[in-house]
Amino acid sequence: MLKYDTKVLITNLPFKNKITKEGRCVISLNSTFETVRMPLSLAILAAELEKFSSQIKIIDANAEDISEEKFIKTVKDQNPDLIFINCSTPTIQQDISTARMIKNSTNHIIFFGQQAMALPINVLKEANGSIDIAVTGDIEITARKILQAYVNKKDMSNIEGTVSSYNNIIKKNKNGPPSSVTNLPRPSRHLLNNKLYKLPSGDIFTSVLVSRGCPYNCSFCNAPFYHGLKIRTRTPDQVVQEIEDTMLKYGIQWFLLASDLFTANKKWVRSFCKLMLTKKIKVKWMCNSRVDTVDYDLLKIMKEAGCWMITFGIESGDQNILDSIGKHIKLNQIEEIINHCNQLKIISHGSFIFGLPGETKESIQNTITFAKSIPLDLAFFYLATPYPGTELFNLTKYKITKKDWKHFNFNEYIIDSELSEEDILKFQKQATKEFYWRPSYIIRQIQRSLHNPLLTIKHGTFMIKKLLSHG
Ligand code: SF4
Repeated sequence: MLKYDTKVLITNLPFKNKITKEGRCVISLNSTFETVRMPLSLAILAAELEKFSSQIKIIDANAEDISEEKFIKTVKDQNPDLIFINCSTPTIQQDISTARMIKNSTNHIIFFGQQAMALPINVLKEANGSIDIAVTGDIEITARKILQAYVNKKDMSNIEGTVSSYNNIIKKNKNGPPSSVTNLPRPSRHLLNNKLYKLPSGDIFTSVLVSRGCPYNCSFCNAPFYHGLKIRTRTPDQVVQEIEDTMLKYGIQWFLLASDLFTANKKWVRSFCKLMLTKKIKVKWMCNSRVDTVDYDLLKIMKEAGCWMITFGIESGDQNILDSIGKHIKLNQIEEIINHCNQLKIISHGSFIFGLPGETKESIQNTITFAKSIPLDLAFFYLATPYPGTELFNLTKYKITKKDWKHFNFNEYIIDSELSEEDILKFQKQATKEFYWRPSYIIRQIQRSLHNPLLTIKHGTFMIKKLLSHG
């Protein structure tokens, strides 16, 4: 196919703090295990547009440590026709400010990502003409239409799946179709510096798309809003083939299997694991899960197929809080599954949230006690953050203590509650300290190290550094 020579830049903009900004997931790297992830959504978008244009570039400025000044100069030198910017809630003000600096009379600036989807009109109004389009759903098909409209000199203001802002008129268009994930191209890894994306151990890792969407509707989570309640999954063969080819081409041995809920479909997970085993692909992968979507047998085959770590959204060790956020899991289910992981030597990573509605000193204490009572390997205690588009946002919008979006980073006190900011931050620190600095935990980790000494030494060194910096 003849390709256009339209210059397209796809970017994560510079931001003063290191963050992971990938899809719906935006986390400040202050949390203990977080690391900058490969920008999968940027690389898939690039692959989609590379079908039509030979001039596609990605700048992952946050990961590449590019200053705003240098970024602006680069963009001015390259002078792209279309600039796709992945925006997020905590970075939105900075994103808009940088967009202003790179806007000129010939380029078109398109925002996509969490904040563009949730509040497109607000974003465009605030940008006051420096952003032309906010994409309100999956980016891939809409981006292709934007590129085609640009090339064919068509009206760019009425593309499905967007809200546009041309000539001071904000126009909301029809929703666009969700992308069929089985038809998406593999990410353009050749446009990235893959060596930038490392686990805390220093091993290079990359992400492979598995699915989008989650049928559960936990009140604090933006997955149902961002990707929908219906799960769209690639075939096991597509995922396995991409892992194998990436391993052979880039020598990468560590993978993040990207999905809102990897274990949503047990049958799919089993087929995937069987295929990994049949093809004897010896890589390590990690994924996320809910405790009620796995069982011992499934975890066992996952382990055999290379699964080394699972992140579970545990959220709270207080049953009333779990019930109030619509999590629909019981404490005994969590305990059972974390025990299975321990038995199978899969690293279990539990994420907890403090400060959800109804939280009290007692419920937080219950969470800390519960986290210590189960054999979790990693536990992270975030602070409740009501992202626009979530039920939690609607429930708490009149109780938000900090109006500036930059505080929406899962590490700040945002929702006014029975507990003061000082109390919550104190509990967050106390939870981390109590969880990691206890003899039974340290002994278990030493025992674990006998199973895989190299991995434990690498992660252990990182963890100690981080924990010391947390005080
Ligand atoms: S199960 Fe996980 S991904 Fe799904 S809505 Fe709940 S927290 Fe979000």
